[in-house]
Amino acid sequence: LITLIENGLIITMDPERRIIEGGAIVIQDDRILEIGETSRLKATYKASRIINGANQMVLPGLIDAHAHLTEAIHRGCEGDLSLVPWLTRRAWPLGDALTQEDARVAATLCCLEMIKSGTTCFVEPMLYSKRGFNQIARVIEDAGLRGILSRALMGKVGYGLEEKALSRGLKDDWRSVLDEAVDLIEEWEGRAQGRINVWLGPRVTSACTEELGKQASHIAAKYHTGITLHVAECEEDTAHIRAEHGMSPLEFLQKIDLLNKNVLLCHAVWLDTPDIELLAGSQAKVVHCPSSNLKLASGVARISDMLRKGVTIALGCDGAMANGCYDMFREMKLASLLHKGVTRDPLSLTAERALEMATINGARALSMVDTIGSIETGKKADLIMVNLRQPHLAPLINPIANLVYSATGSDVNTVIINGNIIMQDRRVLTLDEDAILKEAQERAEKIMERAGLERRH
Ligand SMILES: [Zn+2]
Repeated sequence: LITLIENGLIITMDPERRIIEGGAIVIQDDRILEIGETSRLKATYKASRIINGANQMVLPGLIDAHAHLTEAIHRGCEGDLSLVPWLTRRAWPLGDALTQEDARVAATLCCLEMIKSGTTCFVEPMLYSKRGFNQIARVIEDAGLRGILSRALMGKVGYGLEEKALSRGLKDDWRSVLDEAVDLIEEWEGRAQGRINVWLGPRVTSACTEELGKQASHIAAKYHTGITLHVAECEEDTAHIRAEHGMSPLEFLQKIDLLNKNVLLCHAVWLDTPDIELLAGSQAKVVHCPSSNLKLASGVARISDMLRKGVTIALGCDGAMANGCYDMFREMKLASLLHKGVTRDPLSLTAERALEMATINGARALSMVDTIGSIETGKKADLIMVNLRQPHLAPLINPIANLVYSATGSDVNTVIINGNIIMQDRRVLTLDEDAILKEAQERAEKIMERAGLERRH
């Protein structure tokens, strides 16, 4: 099956960062076959599907490297709390009140939002079997997205909290969970035409023990898979690691074998200069979640220092309760503006850098740079098209500045993942939008009741 996108403004994000005006992309099955001038490619290939790219920007699908899918159904339940009370008073009780069916609906709502805002690939850092791992994997399969699903692991409570602070649903024997994670890798890795990968998600640094870290690292290396965990997200977590182990968070991760090329560190807010040095030498990657870090009053990660040291940085929306939405366009803008403001250096995080974090560097952070993250021959056809005929995107002088500073997720018109058209003219072809919105509303209210939380107006 040959699909041809014609007459688009193509932002390739290839090594030369080529931008092609009036360009065409030829897609064969799930891959990009060729990129170039529309007239030449139309004469060369007999396409069975032609997509009109006039007045549209075509760019690689965005990669959300930290997305808690089921939080979508708890949107608005979060209150204005900082991280630890937010966890113990909202996130954990709400997560505990979630049935497997709720989890399925929640993840479907999240997929709908991601597709409608141009996210084609994501990392879910923390899933549990009794909270619907299998159901969620099936949702991803049906929705047509590409995603990494991580099985949550936990050696102890974390954040220096007492055992009783933890909700009942999170208590698990870590050894049996590791076995189960291996079963999930064997069952789901590479399923859905290769769109699903399974990683390990040892929640948070302070919930890791040496044994857990070393075994998780061993499994990741053996199965060629990844590990993602929350690191130094808030001051309490870093302080607790120092008090308990007499070392910094990254020194501790290095000791327990969780600081290497297979590891994606989430947040990394409370790192000092020696930790940033250690990070830079480790090949571990970082996902920056500026909205979440600001909303939960955690602080501002030293991203421009990390970039200067050559650390690979991806971007993440985190979750609906930590951010409010899963819109990577808003995340790109915030990341760029935040670091310009904090460093008072307008070049500390340029528009192009922000777009790299959401595309090619996101792919690098997921160890998927050979398959996604840019529009290049041989890569998977994960593309989005942005409608340029709108007042807030005119005039078009600098397309990347318009994308990062002026566009939002709702400007995305068409989404193609793995060569399949998932959204066309803002209509999602794989999901029933009305039914999902209705069911999410009904279930959200019941979940709040079961969690014993009052509805706020
Ligand atoms: Zn998170």
